[in-house]
Parts: sequence; structure tokens; C-alpha cells
Amino acid sequence: MLVGVSLIGMQKGSEETIAAVATPPGEGGIGIIRVSGSQAFPIAERIFQRARATQHPTAPRPRGTTGGLESHRIYFGTIRDPETGEVLDRALLLTFRAPHSYTGEDVVEFSCHGSPLLLRRVLQLIWREGARPAQPGEFTQRAFLNGKLDLAQAEAVADLIRARTESQLRAALYLHEGALSRTIRQLSDALLALLAQVEATIDFSEEIGELDRDAFATELNELQKQLEHLLRRAQSGRLLREGVRVAIVGRPNVGKSSLLNTLLGEERAIVTPIPGTTRDLIEEAFQIQGVPIVVLDTAGLREHPDPVEQIGIERTRRAVEHADLLLVVCDLSEGLTEADRAILATLPADKPRIMVWNKADLVPVSDFAPLLHVPPTSGGNQTGSGSVAPTSEGNQTGSGSPCLQGEPKGGGLQKLACLPAVPSADMRNLKEEVSENSIAVRVSALTGEGLPALCEAILEAVNLTGVGEESLLLTHARHVQAVETARQHLLSALNATRAGLPLEVLAVDLRGAWLALGEITGETVDEQLVDRIFRDFCIGK
Ligand code: GDP
Repeated sequence: MLVGVSLIGMQKGSEETIAAVATPPGEGGIGIIRVSGSQAFPIAERIFQRARATQHPTAPRPRGTTGGLESHRIYFGTIRDPETGEVLDRALLLTFRAPHSYTGEDVVEFSCHGSPLLLRRVLQLIWREGARPAQPGEFTQRAFLNGKLDLAQAEAVADLIRARTESQLRAALYLHEGALSRTIRQLSDALLALLAQVEATIDFSEEIGELDRDAFATELNELQKQLEHLLRRAQSGRLLREGVRVAIVGRPNVGKSSLLNTLLGEERAIVTPIPGTTRDLIEEAFQIQGVPIVVLDTAGLREHPDPVEQIGIERTRRAVEHADLLLVVCDLSEGLTEADRAILATLPADKPRIMVWNKADLVPVSDFAPLLHVPPTSGGNQTGSGSVAPTSEGNQTGSGSPCLQGEPKGGGLQKLACLPAVPSADMRNLKEEVSENSIAVRVSALTGEGLPALCEAILEAVNLTGVGEESLLLTHARHVQAVETARQHLLSALNATRAGLPLEVLAVDLRGAWLALGEITGETVDEQLVDRIFRDFCIGK
């Protein structure tokens, strides 16, 4: 009675031979046309004429200048239209007989000169001779259907091609190499063993006795924990694959555009001393230790903007909403102003954020204290503008903090939590306003001071520190969803076991969990899902 759903309704490969250019569009040194299917070799034999090597008197006769093409060979020759005799190109031909090929079918590849026009002509000839145009991802889809790759590995092929950073590449290689698949299969096998135990007890309880529910619950719990562990790193995997979306927010003129430029290492946003000039959202990508970062520079937030600025501000709000992390930029030489506070008040409390105290070059390290001065929220000695001159109130707060002495630890990175143990009333206000867990970093967009610490802080804030060494990450939303579904089923099975519910109920959940995990490797997916996955690939892959 065990479940046996496998590649539901899917055909293995197809009789049709497919062909496409496998190299990127545009001019190149070479362009490769890949042909897969039963007609690949016959087509190659019709259109490709091997060159006769110039015979040196002592050299052995070149092999195979006539007769059929052998597997796993590279031939040099000409591509010729068999109807007209016209030579299209001088090229290399690579041959792979099934099943020892990328798709598991007969495959030939023509390495031509990389001219788009020439490749088009050769491809049309191949189509005319009996192949049809390949769909996006169809070569890899056939590899999957012929058991050369499982589904997670096939998805990794697209990741490999699209990887833009070292970390993305590492994650893709890891997936492609089958590490996630192996882990998932181990979990699936363990699940199947538990399911078999339940099924056997249902059918033969008289012979083998009742199920030891305590021991069974322990095993279920163990499996559930392993899934939980995978899910805990899922967010990091998503960020690694899609990039960490960082929104830079702050009032005008605190140096947001300058900070963006310094992070990117190039002049991109318009920097000007007139408040409110960055009116559009500027999106740029760079990487920190191989982690892709997408930075959104935003229009300065002000209370009474003109209509054009209003549009920018609306975009800022959207950027904040969609960001994984906020960089809240303030001017260290001015301290926390009323305008800064107003902005902080509008930011979603649950969004990770870093307080970036910019213009550090204007404030000697010994005068770092002004940032700690926060005018009382009501009454008291409100200063009107809310800003504090760096020198006038310089030393009024916590000189006892080790973090405030000299260059802060980590080159400028510090947690507010490491500020004085017994904070002043002002300090408490500040901590409440910027939230307990905010990281504060002292930087200068002008001199670059503190930038390495800011980069570290960004990775730390989204839990991606040392992600390069982390191997088992769920990088695909599809995989995360499947693991989550499996975990829900296991939790439900665990409850059923402990509550003494009938074994049939348990079996349903175990089966559900097994099916969910099978979707990752492709053992239990249906045709539509497979089609959907491969539709995202490029043609020729
Ligand atoms: P934004 O409106 O927040 O994007 O601010 P900008 O990046 O346009 O900068 C406003 C002004 O502050 C410009 O004159 C910058 O040169 C200056 N500025 C930005 N960052 C720094 C910094 O770290 N130190 C100093 N001294 N000036 C800075």
C-alpha cells in the first residue's frame, strides 16, 4: 500500500529531435549549435563532411574519414547544404551517443564561427533536415526525464548560468552537485521507513504487535527537527539567490546619495548640496563577500515636499516596504534631529535596520557623544531644531563606554547594546526610538571611513555572515515551500501519534510529507510543474 507516485504521467524524452544555439546571442569567437534526439547523428552525417587530414608519409591513416560517426569524438570538417552543395562553415563536430550525453539521448554539437547570421543559417539547415526548434530549457528537461539529473539539480543549471556573485555560484554548484538532493533523499527514505512501519502495523498488528508510539514520536520529532533546521536557513538562501534589498532612508542632505556612490565605488546618483534633489528611486547592485546587494537610494523624506518630490517620497515608502534591510542615515555632526525622529517613527518596527551615522569626518572620534544626545520627546530642554552642535555638548553622556573610546571596535561597527550599562534618560530614549537591536555604524561617505564595518553590519543584520562557508541552503522558494509542507505534515503526524489517533490518520500525514519532499528532487511532481520550471530556462539549455 505504499505510495508509488512517480513522475506522474510524464513521458521519457520524446521522439522529436530538437536543435538550438546553445551559446549567447550576438557575435562571438565560436557559436555552438546543440542537437538532441534520434535524428541527431543522421542529420550530422548528412550535413557535415569531415576534412581529410593532410597525410604525412609516416603518419597513420586518419581514422573514420568515411563511414558512421563514433561517439565521444571531435571531428573537423565543413557544414554543407546537401541539396545545393553550398558550404556554410568550417566547424568542429562533437558527438555523444545515448545514454552518455547531457540529455541522455544522442547529441551532436557543432562548434561554428560565432556569427549570428551564420548560426541562423546552419540552424535552419538542421531544422530542415528533420529537427525542430528546442523550447526553453528543453535539453535540460530531457536530461531530467531521462534520469541524468534530478529536478533540484536541473534547477541548479539555470542558477549556475545566472549566478552573478561568488556566493550565488557556490550555492548553485552545491545544488547542482546534488548535495541538497542527497539530504532530501535521506529524509525521504527515513520517512518511507516510518510509513512502512505504520502500514505494516495496520495490516499485521496481530503478528507484529502494536506500534510503540513513544519511540515512534521520538523518531518523528527527530525528522521534524532536521526539516526545521533546513528552514531556518531558508531566508538566507533566498537573500543569497535574489539579493538583499537594502533601502537607504533619511532626511535630505544627510549623505544618502553620497553613501550609495561610495558603496558602489562610482558616481551614479546625483549628489548636490540642495536638499531634496534625489527625486527618483535609484536601484544599484553590488556585492559584499559574494552576497548580492541591491541598494535602493530614495528621495529624502521631508514634511512639506513639492508635488514632484511627493512622488519620490511615495516610492521611498514602497522601497522601505519591500526592503529586507534599512540603512537609516543620519548626520553625525548634527546628532539625532526632530526630522530624523519623525522618519524613524514612520519606519516599520519589525524591519531590520542599521543606523548609519554619516559625516564622521566632521566629528572627531572623541566627539562621538553628540549622537547620543536626544532631546527629550516632550517638554524639558528641547532645543528647537533638535540638532546638537558637536562641540557644545560634546562630553555630556556616557564617557564610560568602551565603545565610545577611540576608534570603535570593528572599525566603526557597534551595537547600541554595548553603550553604557546604566544609560542616561536620553540614552534610553534613543535606544527605544531606534529599537534595541539596531546596529549603529559610524561612517564617512566622503572619506570611506567605516565602510568595511558597514558592509559587515549589512551581512550581520540579515544573517548572512560567513554564508560562503554555509553549504546547505534552500535557495529556491519552491524548495522552501515543499520542506515547510513536509514539516507541517510531520507535526500533524506527531500530534496524531501522541494523541493516540488511528494509525490511518498517521499514515496520511506521513505520505503527505513524503510527497512534499519528493517534489524537490522531482520524484513526485506532475508534468505541469516540470513544464513550469523549465519554461524559466533559456533556449539552448
Ligand atoms: P542626500 O540628500 O541625503 O542624498 O545627501 P547627498 O549625498 O546629496 O549629500 C549632501 C551633502 O552632504 C553634499 O554636499 C555631500 O558632499 C555632503 N556629504 C555627504 N556625505 C558626507 C560625508 O561623509 N562627509 C562630509 N563632510 N560631507 C558629506
